[in-house]
Amino acid sequence: MPVAPASAPAAPEVSSAPPPAKPAALSGPQKAMRKLGLVRDMDLVLHLPLRWEDATRLVRLVDARVGEVVQFEATVTACEVVNRGRRQLVATVEDGGARCELRFFHFYPTTRRALEVGARVRVRGELRHGLFGLTVMHPTLSVAGSPLPSSLTPVYPTVAGLPQTYLRRAIAQALQRADLSETIPPEFLDQNLLSPAWNGRLALTFLHQPPPTECPQTLEDRQHPAWQRLKAEELLAQQLAQAQARRERARLRAPVLVSAPGPQALPERLLAALPFALTGAQNRVVAEVAADLARERPMHRLLQGDVGSGKTVVAALAAAVAIDAGWQCALMAPTELLAEQHFGKLVAWLAPLGVEVAWLTGSQKKAERTAALARIASGQAALVVGTHAVIQAQVQFARLGLAIIDEQHRFGVAQRLALRDKQAANGFEPHLLMMSATPIPRTLAMSYYADLDVSTLDELPPGRTPVLTRVLSNARRGEVVERIRGQLAQGRQVYWVCPLIEESEALDLRNATATHAELTAALPGVTVALLHSRMPAADKRAVMAAFASGEVGVLVSTTVIEVGVDVPNASLMVIEHAERFGLSQLHQLRGRVGRGAAASACVLLYEAPEGGRLGETARERLRAMVETHDGFEIARRDLAIRGPGEFLGARQSGTPLLRFADLTADAALLEWARRVAPQLLERHPDLAARHVARWLGGKSDFLKA
Ligand code: ADP
Ligand code: MG
Repeated sequence: MPVAPASAPAAPEVSSAPPPAKPAALSGPQKAMRKLGLVRDMDLVLHLPLRWEDATRLVRLVDARVGEVVQFEATVTACEVVNRGRRQLVATVEDGGARCELRFFHFYPTTRRALEVGARVRVRGELRHGLFGLTVMHPTLSVAGSPLPSSLTPVYPTVAGLPQTYLRRAIAQALQRADLSETIPPEFLDQNLLSPAWNGRLALTFLHQPPPTECPQTLEDRQHPAWQRLKAEELLAQQLAQAQARRERARLRAPVLVSAPGPQALPERLLAALPFALTGAQNRVVAEVAADLARERPMHRLLQGDVGSGKTVVAALAAAVAIDAGWQCALMAPTELLAEQHFGKLVAWLAPLGVEVAWLTGSQKKAERTAALARIASGQAALVVGTHAVIQAQVQFARLGLAIIDEQHRFGVAQRLALRDKQAANGFEPHLLMMSATPIPRTLAMSYYADLDVSTLDELPPGRTPVLTRVLSNARRGEVVERIRGQLAQGRQVYWVCPLIEESEALDLRNATATHAELTAALPGVTVALLHSRMPAADKRAVMAAFASGEVGVLVSTTVIEVGVDVPNASLMVIEHAERFGLSQLHQLRGRVGRGAAASACVLLYEAPEGGRLGETARERLRAMVETHDGFEIARRDLAIRGPGEFLGARQSGTPLLRFADLTADAALLEWARRVAPQLLERHPDLAARHVARWLGGKSDFLKA
């Protein structure tokens, strides 16, 4: 049934019966509510208005002011459908000698019935001067003489098929039913931030049904104490969920992983065999990880370090500790290419020391896989490296003690939880080390990642050369090809990354293929290779090997090389359509060059939209890439430009973003919530549990991964 915007009677008092509590089949509006995630009473209560309208007052039509939203009652003196360029319903209403025209472009039989000549109607809408005198376009109609609402009328975010009147009624009823008892004892309320005059119930009731004395504009400004209170509650729920997760983890038992001291210990032997000495930062981080591993409760640590900061060797040393203690270690990477690089490196480092490394991936042959699974189940394979295949149900570890996840933000929450659950049968939880080259900005670290311990590699290994970054219009592509020639002539190698076309992998590929052909033609005598995500794993491996050996001069690729690829002789990176990439992604890509001693450069090619200039945001982002090489700074700017949504990626899915609070604007409330959450949990666990359930329902699990 179509929803007539103007025909439904607005007065809530005359509305029909409430929706049945447990219907056999969902009605249209109920389905629409479900689509909006409005299932529990609390979901409805937390669905706050977009704006408010004042329907509490009537004016006399003669006194009504043009340009204002007014509400008056009048008698219908004419009503007809006319064609003034467009078919429309036009009614005339009169009261106290004044006359007004009502016009509708969309109308339904109910609209016409409400406007029968002689009927008395209540009209609400913006009064204007029209061609035919005073006019209200698409007014809201209701029954004249019905009681006026005693509060401002909320206007809620909604979807097609869910009329405001239905939603208002459902929310008003939920507000009656929901348990809104106080969960924050007065001693926790910081009077500088939160007015003791407001509790959750008052704040919610106020925002859903503000008194007529309140000005709608003041309400829309989220600084109102009622909003402050809700934002504080929301942040507190988030902090509590994480503090709870931390405590639950603290109750779990993990194997104590220490390697015997002395030069014969596996980590010592690995260190001795490495062709380099650890940086100060690596030494510090290795010690932090080792201290965690030596505890009885599971480690839950994020290792963040800029691209090229040397996270892999830290992972290898952690694995060596676990293996030395007699346990297994699993390392999972988001792409086959990356997993493969890790496998290669770890085998080279650890196999000579007598460690058996198994390889697991989706594309593997059955026999090979069966053999790997058997070695993992028997415990013979001490280290398992692979892609998502590592967490599949058939994979049984004999004694998993440590799980390492590289590029953790690329994995879904469910996948990370699955890796941890691998060990549950044994009664021991594995230690978890997550690694990421995308540093978490401080506010996110304090909120979404509050339950993580963080180690940071803030120092690059010596001998790196800064990458000179240039932003060029695609019109200057010819110059870039010249530059490639120059690099090749010096024996260097070049990456060319093709645009990311979000809608379609097929288009991605077509583009990369075209560029590959173009460069092959422009660079006779040079081997230009193509790498893309749809290639069979063996082909990708062959191409990467050829690039690593120097046989391939230019590697044209889709974004599959984003993470992990390590070819120190590559000194130039060209990124086409750079404006389509996220900043952190550009930074990761750029990190593929500047790994050797040669001066390296990164060219960001952009294409302005048809005839125009690149937008301000896009320019600001590319400028950021030129101005800084610090991954933290880039992440900070990325967050400022894009907001946390995309940043959070996988951790985010299934968890609502903060709906009311803003991490930047409400930093003071965030600090408050961080301070209060552990105390509330300690002193009033029942209140804490109620608070989390109220705000997060079943979603709090997602914050634990
Ligand atoms: P990322 O942190 O991006 O994963 P990698 O672990 O791939 O970085 O390390 C980048 C490169 O630096 C690798 O070739 C690695 O072997 C090398 N490397 C790591 N640590 C050091 C060090 N302390 N000194 C010299 N080279 C190092
Ligand atoms: Mg890495």
